[in-house]
Amino acid sequence: MEISDILDAVRNGAQATSQDVVKLLSAEGREMEELFAEAREVRDRQFGKHVFAYGFVYFSTYCHNNCTFCYYRRTNSIDRYRKSPEEIISLAADLKDAGIDLVDLTMGEDEHMYADDYSELLEIISGVKKLGISIMASPGAVKKEAMPKIKAAGADFYAVYQETHNRDLYSKLRLEQDFDFRYNQRVWAREAGMLTEDGMMVGLGESMEDRADAILTMGAEKCEQIRCMTFVPQAGTPLQTLEPMDSYMELKSIAVMRILFPDRFIPATLDVEGIEGMKSRLDAGASTITSIVVPHRHLAGVAQPEKDIESGGRSVQHVFDLVADMGKRIATQNEFRSMIDKLEERIRPKP
Ligand code: SF4
Repeated sequence: MEISDILDAVRNGAQATSQDVVKLLSAEGREMEELFAEAREVRDRQFGKHVFAYGFVYFSTYCHNNCTFCYYRRTNSIDRYRKSPEEIISLAADLKDAGIDLVDLTMGEDEHMYADDYSELLEIISGVKKLGISIMASPGAVKKEAMPKIKAAGADFYAVYQETHNRDLYSKLRLEQDFDFRYNQRVWAREAGMLTEDGMMVGLGESMEDRADAILTMGAEKCEQIRCMTFVPQAGTPLQTLEPMDSYMELKSIAVMRILFPDRFIPATLDVEGIEGMKSRLDAGASTITSIVVPHRHLAGVAQPEKDIESGGRSVQHVFDLVADMGKRIATQNEFRSMIDKLEERIRPKP
């Protein structure tokens, strides 16, 4: 089938097969532009002029894991930091005052935060919640029993990325981490009443079929947010010399996810190509700008530890101005909150 035939079939309610997804991800030239145009149309039908803005607070760069692709892996000798609860709350307050829709509280798997039944993590989440802002918690893979506590502290979303749904590849990337334990994080988070996010990474040696499988699996998981990011080689890691891909596979994956799963939040991350990459991701059908960072506060990104942060390129005002130039606008906190309330209502655990 041609790409336009697959798009027609999906428009008419057909379920895309893995082969269809591979074909869509293989689009080049005019067909790739057709894919992006379809994704924009689907996104605009779903969300109108709204774009959603998430601020990023990477509050601890300590981690007990040793993922081969990650700069913050345990054995990489780098400077690390752990922010105090007061500083994290102050950073979140700045983001809220600037009009950000959600604060993403991210950390490595920091044993300090896991100690004493996650008490400091819970304190941080509940402190930020008191500001009256929506929260995504991204603390890694935790015990099942922690999920209701994280929800009760105030988290709306729980984000944990598989990166690949190919178990062999997973075992080479996320060393000594159980695939099912990580997968179940999203199941347990949802059971506790949180919205969830899964993500895939491209450029790590996966096949086209792996990418298609990840997209279809993430869709079937019913995560309210799904993402794709391009691998960026990190100094001091086993994959530091892996040849990086350009961003087209990420853009095509964004478009395919949008077309197949119209109602999901799909990020345009600033963490791969900085502010320069925002427009191309929105033009591929993304709905949500992630990794907006408060400048001059000594914070890091994940895929790009420093890119555009201290210059203010990932700051709120700069992002809002660029979105307005595209004829869109950032949803107000109330508009976003009412969408989140409706989504949470759907998954609220029955008494
Ligand atoms: S990807 Fe996450 S879990 Fe893995 S080493 Fe990096 S911070 Fe730790």
